[in-house]
Amino acid sequence: MASSAACIFCKIIKGDIPSFKLFENDKVLAFLDIQPLSRGHALVIPKYHGSKLTEIPDEDLSAILPVAKKIAAATGASDYNILQNNGAAAHQVVEHVHFHVIPKPNATEGLGIGWPAQSTDMDKLKALHEELKSKM
Ligand code: AMP
Ligand code: ZN
Repeated sequence: MASSAACIFCKIIKGDIPSFKLFENDKVLAFLDIQPLSRGHALVIPKYHGSKLTEIPDEDLSAILPVAKKIAAATGASDYNILQNNGAAAHQVVEHVHFHVIPKPNATEGLGIGWPAQSTDMDKLKALHEELKSKM
């Protein structure tokens, strides 16, 4: 779907809701996050409406990262995270694909990450490798 009447980010794209826009072209809009985790926390979104990454056409996705790169550089941050959540269990709240650019200036500001690494073995990795490759 190219646009959703109920979507808050589609309303920002249309200008029905104000935002602090940082960048705009025909495929992408970037603006400051209204509840930042750190100075310079911004969102880069495709103008094409879709809830999850897999719903967005490749040409729209391709336009995103160069904008995230510009914003990361503009913040002057040496350390930063690019985050893109899909689904409520993965911490997605707004159901329009968005990429966070989150400067990480110190241990307390910016993104905090849990990394619950699991143990595995080569046989399991090999089977998974074959399965995923066959579906791509
Ligand atoms: P997520 O948890 O990945 O869905 O993050 C959604 C983000 O959108 C949060 O960081 C919010 O602060 C941000 N957000 C929600 N509404 C607005 C808005 N009107 N303007 C800017 N950022 C917003
Ligand atoms: Zn939308």
